[in-house]
Formats: sequence, C-alpha cells, structure tokens
Amino acid sequence: MVFSPRGCIRDRREGQLQSKAELFAMVEAFEAGEMLDYQMAAWLMAAYLKPLNGRETACLTEAMLNSGKRLELNKGHKKAVDKHSTGGVGDKVSLILAPLMAEAGLLVPMIAGRGLGHTGGTVDKLESIPGFQTKLSLYQFSRVVAQLGTAVIGQTGEIAPADKRIYALRDVTSTVESIPLIVASILSKKLAANLDALVLDVKFGEGAFMKTPETARALALELVRVARMMGVPTSAILTNMNRPLGLTIGNALEVKESIAVLQGKGPDDTRELTLQLGAEMANQAGLFSDSTHSYHYLAQLLDSGAAYEKFLAMLQLQGAPADALKRLPESKKRISITADQAGRIIAISPMALAHVALDLGAGRRRASDPIDHAVGIELKVEVGDVVAEGQEIASLHVSHQPAPEVLELTNQAFSYRPESDAFEREELILEKIDRVSLPSQAVAMPEA
Ligand code: URA
Repeated sequence: MVFSPRGCIRDRREGQLQSKAELFAMVEAFEAGEMLDYQMAAWLMAAYLKPLNGRETACLTEAMLNSGKRLELNKGHKKAVDKHSTGGVGDKVSLILAPLMAEAGLLVPMIAGRGLGHTGGTVDKLESIPGFQTKLSLYQFSRVVAQLGTAVIGQTGEIAPADKRIYALRDVTSTVESIPLIVASILSKKLAANLDALVLDVKFGEGAFMKTPETARALALELVRVARMMGVPTSAILTNMNRPLGLTIGNALEVKESIAVLQGKGPDDTRELTLQLGAEMANQAGLFSDSTHSYHYLAQLLDSGAAYEKFLAMLQLQGAPADALKRLPESKKRISITADQAGRIIAISPMALAHVALDLGAGRRRASDPIDHAVGIELKVEVGDVVAEGQEIASLHVSHQPAPEVLELTNQAFSYRPESDAFEREELILEKIDRVSLPSQAVAMPEA
C-alpha cells in the first residue's frame, strides 16, 4: 500500500472508516519522519471531530504499541496483571497494590507515570525513597519482575514511542479530550507489558480527568472493549474523586501512608480501594474461585505484614539502601490549618488541595519542572467529620512560607454544614464495568 499523509488526513476529515493497514502505515510513516508533525496534528484534529470507532481505536492502539518493544517476561505458571488509574488526588494505590498482588501470586510488571498538572504520579512518589531506581531497561525490569513478582518503572523510550510524540502534539492542539485517542494512548503503553489481564480504575468527579460518572463510564466501556478486542481480559471500576483519596497529598507523605496500609493500618478508603482493585485483578487472572475469598485473602496479606515484606524486597531490588525508609524526605516546617467555623465537613475539594500541593512544590506544571518530595498536605479530618471552630483540619508540610492566597485556598477547600443537617457520604465505588457490560456486538480484532 502506498501511504499518503494527505489522503489519510482527508479520509479522517470526511469521517471515512480507516483500515488497519492505513492506520498502521500512518504510525509507521510518522515514526519514519514521512508524515510530519503538522500533518499528524491535522489528523488528530480530524480524529477529534470525527472520532474513531472501536475497531479503528483497536488498530491505532496496536500500531502505537508496535512502534516500540514489548516486555519479554519469563512467566512460568504465573499470570501477568496490572492496574491503571486515570489519575486522581492522593491516589497512592499502585504503591500498595504492586507488592500486595505479587505476594498473592501474580506477576505485576507496572509501567507507571509521573504527575503532570493536578494529578500525582506513582513514579514521583517512589522517587521520594532515597536510591529507588525507576529507570530500568526493559531487560532489567523483566528480571526483577521474574525474581520478585513485581517492579515499578517509569515510561521508557522503548515503550510505545509513537504515543509519546503523538501525546505531545495532542497537548498543544487541544485534542487530548477524545475518548478513542485516550484509549489508544493508555492501552498502547499498558499492553506493552505483555499482560494476561488488566484492571482499570476510572475516576470521576471534581479531582478526576472525567468530571461525571457518565463520561467516566463511556471511557471505561471503550477501554474495556478495546483491551478485550486485543485479547486481554480487562475490567474497570468507576471510583469517586470528589474528595481526595486517603489523608495525604504529596510524594513522601503518600509513601508513608502506603506503608501504613501495607502494615494493615492506614485510612479506610485507601485500604478499601486497594482491596477492591486487588480482588478484581485476582478475579481477572482467575487466581481464586470467588472475589469474596480474594478480598479476605488480600486483607490478611496486609494485616500479617507479608505485603510489606514484599514492598521492602522491591525497594532493595530497585536500588534503595536498607535504611532508605528512615531517610524519607521531611519538611522542616508545618503550618496548621484550623476550621473557621464549627459544623460537619460535607466536602473537601480535591482540586483546591491539588493546586495547594502544586504551589507548595509537590507537583509540576510543566514536564521539566523539578519537584520537592518532602512537601504536601496531611488531612486531619475526613468528609462527614464534625469539627469545632479552631480545630486543626490539615497540616501543610512546607519548605517556604506559602503566599496568603495558598492558605486561603486551603481553607476554601473545606465546606461545612450544621451538624444537625441530613448528610450522606458519597460512595467510593460506583460500579464495575466488565465483559457483561459491553454490548453483545463487541467485535473481534480486524485482520487487515
Ligand atoms: N493518560 C494517557 O496516558 N494518555 C491520555 O491520552 C490520557 C491520559
């Protein structure tokens, strides 16, 4: 087939179905420099306006996956399973889940992201542990996973390089918010790990990428459908991001909270979400006969400290010295935030707190920004708690005195109502999307 970038852009602009051969040729031409950035940008805008259907999305995903290498893993009799979250505030579940599920008998080759914008990233959190290496080659990565059952690394140039360049173009052409393009981007990276199953945590709400349950459900359905078309059993859980997850936001603080959960302690919501996602991973991998059994088994691995031992082994194999956890960065200065009124806390805004954390230096606005691993926010209350005026509701861990607006924004993140008002906390987990949620005409991967 002779590939013409101009013809490919025109086909998309006219909403014509694009074949597997054409989409493969497009990604190959882009990688070879025969389709130029401005031509890809034009195709992306056309794809934003005339969205790819399920088959086209699966073809684009496979083409982007083929632009890089796939992990070669000596699996023995084990199944390789991963979890992906669409990103939230205070979401440290991956740090707990990777060692927990490895201890339960799965292989968890986790290729994780960095924080950008208001959401945090697993790689940044782990890099707050002195010596911890997130930059392993795919070969080193597969050796650690085979030996230990898990390893967590950042995106490498070897994995789906086409996605990296296409994402950069989407970022500057306002074409990020397209479900098929998001699906192809996420899955081309996740499926490079040669997975036998995948579980997705698709978040909705103020602190999430998808603001409503409806848009999160649409994204989850498409992710599940396309991953299944590509032969990987996949399910998704829709989870609430109208409040931060757990009691900490900020890298080293979140590592400490993860350790607490790994030792059978820690906040209930973080533990619960970890166990639910873990039970679903076990379910997708066929590890146990029923998910209630998986849930209780995993809870016991947290309570017994077995999952924590696996976490310590992971730190050691990924380069952290034995005393690394004693040397987690800590800020010298704390600022206490107190309730400006008495009453029940009915909401804690994840977006406001994410911006406070960014201002303190916990995140980056641009990919090249440095981050301060020690700073962040420690919540002293949860949604639903009743507080007295003047009671401490949060502690800011800072390295410099924040501007008055930052302190004001922290106060504004908390909403109050009289204690006597009726109040119901929103559920953490809304629903599960799996094979049975998909329309029956879910199609097989096209051949050409
Ligand atoms: N995360 C990704 O990796 N890609 C997207 O397009 C959106 C979120």
